[in-house]
Amino acid sequence: MKDQLESLRASTIDLTEQTFDIKALGDARIRILGRKGELTGILRGLKDLPVEERSRIGQLANHIKIELEQLFDAREAHLRNEIERAQLATESIDITLAGRRMVLGKSHILNRVTRELVEVFSGLGFQLAEGPEVEIDYYNFEALNIPKDHPARDMQDTFYFSENVLLRTHTSPVQIRTMEKRKPPVKVICPGKVYRRDADVTHSPMFMQIEGLWVDKEVSFSDLKGVLTAFVREYFGDKLDLRFRPSFFPFTEPSAEVDIQCVICGGSGCRTCSFTGWLEILGSGMVDPALYKFVNYDPEVYTGFAFGLGIERVAMLKYGIPDIRLFYENDVRFLNQF
Ligand SMILES: [Zn+2]
Repeated sequence: MKDQLESLRASTIDLTEQTFDIKALGDARIRILGRKGELTGILRGLKDLPVEERSRIGQLANHIKIELEQLFDAREAHLRNEIERAQLATESIDITLAGRRMVLGKSHILNRVTRELVEVFSGLGFQLAEGPEVEIDYYNFEALNIPKDHPARDMQDTFYFSENVLLRTHTSPVQIRTMEKRKPPVKVICPGKVYRRDADVTHSPMFMQIEGLWVDKEVSFSDLKGVLTAFVREYFGDKLDLRFRPSFFPFTEPSAEVDIQCVICGGSGCRTCSFTGWLEILGSGMVDPALYKFVNYDPEVYTGFAFGLGIERVAMLKYGIPDIRLFYENDVRFLNQF
């Protein structure tokens, strides 16, 4: 039995030296030293030996087992090392190469202008209000005094999901939603994306608006003039004048469009203002009392005004951008200028 053990030892040493594959090495270890392996097989005859012989052979078997376990461990570590060395040799790392610069993103120019406008109106006491871009017909048209057959709908054709569900054509629905939820005083500023079926140099099917609404007791047209004058002076410069031209909107009465003195030439006339000295900047008016019945306000008690401006238009004037489509083309060379 001693010879059998010595021979197993010798053959195992040979075997490990000739094995170059980690998986094959593991299999050999189980075959030789495993619970039902060759070593266990030899020791099955142990019980037939005389007592003192038994303990001597048992000790020898133990030593050989420990020795062979160590042998397998050492061979496995050696093979793993070899693999790593081979990998390092093929995929060499050049630590002298320059690193890759992290590119920091920045706010889109339209988001920045939106934030600036909200800040100016916050300073005048307006609170931020927002609403859904997918609207129902009632909030986008009906409750704003634009019934189904009203001609104003022709100028605001949009994208419909169904007869009553559409992409909002203005941010005005937010005003109705806000008034439904709150009693006066209501003083809100509502920025957001709106949609219309238009596309050319000055019109995009998606664009951004910002609207303001102030309803309370004794809010008058002079408050409207005061707020808008303060806004223009704060945002475009403190020497620019405004003028109000009568206009029509279904949800305000009286209504006025507001021009500001040209931000480029200051009023003396240039190409941007078509040599008139004036630029059209926003629409405004006193809230039509007819609207109050949709939100259960008493028109005998409350008055208010609303105004709205295109955020792209503001950005184009402030930064001298000639084409509205530039905002949406995602050209980093354009966007990085601001
Ligand atoms: Zn001008």
